[in-house]
Amino acid sequence: MTALYCWRQIIQNPGGLRGWQSAETRERYQAEERKFLIRHRFGGVGNWNYGHAFSRYWQRFGKTHPEFFSLLPDGRRAPLDGDKDGQYITMCVSNPDLWKQIIRDWKNDPLTRPGHRAYRPHVVACENDTPGMCTCPNCRAWDAPDSRFAASDYWSGRPYPLQRRGRFRLARADWGEDGGTAVGYPPSLSDRYAKFYNAVLQEARKSNPKARVVGYAYANYVEGPTATKVDPGVVISFVPLAFFPVHGGIESDIPDSVETLARRGGAGSDPASQLHAGGE
Ligand SMILES: [Zn+2]
Repeated sequence: MTALYCWRQIIQNPGGLRGWQSAETRERYQAEERKFLIRHRFGGVGNWNYGHAFSRYWQRFGKTHPEFFSLLPDGRRAPLDGDKDGQYITMCVSNPDLWKQIIRDWKNDPLTRPGHRAYRPHVVACENDTPGMCTCPNCRAWDAPDSRFAASDYWSGRPYPLQRRGRFRLARADWGEDGGTAVGYPPSLSDRYAKFYNAVLQEARKSNPKARVVGYAYANYVEGPTATKVDPGVVISFVPLAFFPVHGGIESDIPDSVETLARRGGAGSDPASQLHAGGE
């Protein structure tokens, strides 16, 4: 496994310094980080051209295929309150028709056509910028047993605000709008998402045996999966729950998550596997 490790340039983030003392401190850190990466031979460049992949799906399929989208605890498959155009909606990732739609989009994408300068046979299956939320029985059946589900208001059907703002409380992510909530980990959907990436890859291989899939380890699926082996054809972009400088014990958990992903990701069987960490 090749680890490509680079903190996102938060300077471009309108959220501001996000824990940095000053812009100068941040720039000094990033300059040192670049040197560290070069000295440790982290020099590979792999442009996988990925990002949140389904931000227009609600506009495209909200009326025709509501079953593509997460089933919320109140019985709706719809954007959270305050998400006007649905760009933050998450997907019902266990739905085979969704996998087929993703592959149709991929095959229609000019970047996937041989002969194009940027041709790469990879499919982007990175969820929108929201924790995984689907409560449907099929998605839940994909989750590994985890006692934290029972303790969660959201997953237990107890009253829970279904609003765009504050949605990262479900993941306890430090970089959500509320910030500072990264204490402990939420119920993990990592096995669900590992199965999703594997399923999309199988679908892609029907038309291109060399296909790869890019997916996130993100929000409430950032921990390594415990019961599912990720196909070596899947590239995981690891997005930790907190950006540097981290706190609350998260920093010691990050290597554990990466290591579990590496073990479950078949890294040893495919030297080309890459782990994109924190960078986009
Ligand atoms: Zn579902």
